[in-house]
Amino acid sequence: MPAQHVVLKNKKIAARETLSVYFERPHDFQYKAGQSIDLTVLNPPETDAEGNTRAFTLASAPFERDLMITTRVRNSAFKRTLQKMPIGAEVQIDGPFGNMTLHSNETRLAVFLAGGIGITPFRSIILQAVKEKKTHKLILFYSNRTPRDAAFIDELKTVELVYGNFLLIATMTGSGLPDDEWSGEREYISYRMMHRYGGDLSNAVYYCAGPPKMVGALRTMLNENSVNDDDIRSEEFSGY
Ligand SMILES: Cc1cc2nc3c(=O)[nH]c(=O)nc-3n(C[C@H](O)[C@H](O)[C@H](O)COP(=O)(O)OP(=O)(O)OC[C@H]3O[C@@H](n4cnc5c(N)ncnc54)[C@H](O)[C@@H]3O)c2cc1C
Repeated sequence: MPAQHVVLKNKKIAARETLSVYFERPHDFQYKAGQSIDLTVLNPPETDAEGNTRAFTLASAPFERDLMITTRVRNSAFKRTLQKMPIGAEVQIDGPFGNMTLHSNETRLAVFLAGGIGITPFRSIILQAVKEKKTHKLILFYSNRTPRDAAFIDELKTVELVYGNFLLIATMTGSGLPDDEWSGEREYISYRMMHRYGGDLSNAVYYCAGPPKMVGALRTMLNENSVNDDDIRSEEFSGY
């Protein structure tokens, strides 16, 4: 699809230092849950060596009306521009790209492994699967330092309550987190943890997203437990 301009409709805080940004969806813009776009800010007041374009997963699900991205607010010229951008301003989007999309064989378990902002493709995939009444069993392991960093966690907990095929295992790995703030898992995601919640994983397809270091570590962990690369899909969020 050729690059096109879209209008900024809304911005919402999604977690600590994390912003969801909503854009009007062009009537002819089709995408699959889990895909990404290149977003370019137009005539920004400032720029830096990384330029005016970043890749973002569409955290919105295809059945939703708007296009939505979610990002950590960092101190780059691009992020400052995005933060200050007024409602009604235009940006350019190019795409959709990528194959972080749910496998079609509904008898195979989907294991999603998200590090921090790596949750974005999984929000889209899980909400779309629920909407389409897919029968895949879906398990999400979602790692953050603290609950305040975990975008969409309340929404995903609600999905878990109403959708029997979805299990959410959130883990908060920050040290010194008081018990009254978090009573769930605190360990890093491991094969042992996945096995404890997922049972027989021999039929699973794995999806990893987040900072490059974490995605690399997850892939190594999976390979060390005899998971074939053919059964792993991953996306590294460069810049984190
Ligand atoms: C397919 C895809 C999907 C993504 N989805 C999301 C998303 O949903 N949400 C989100 O927040 N981010 C996502 N990202 C990452 C996003 O494109 C930005 O890189 C990130 O948000 C950081 O941007 P920044 O402006 O804060 O920092 P930047 O100015 O881009 O960079 C911060 C630091 O990282 C370094 N850096 C930048 N690019 C690279 C690179 N390619 N390799 C190594 N180092 C680099 C810079 O030199 C700098 O030191 C995605 C990336 C990809 C490739």
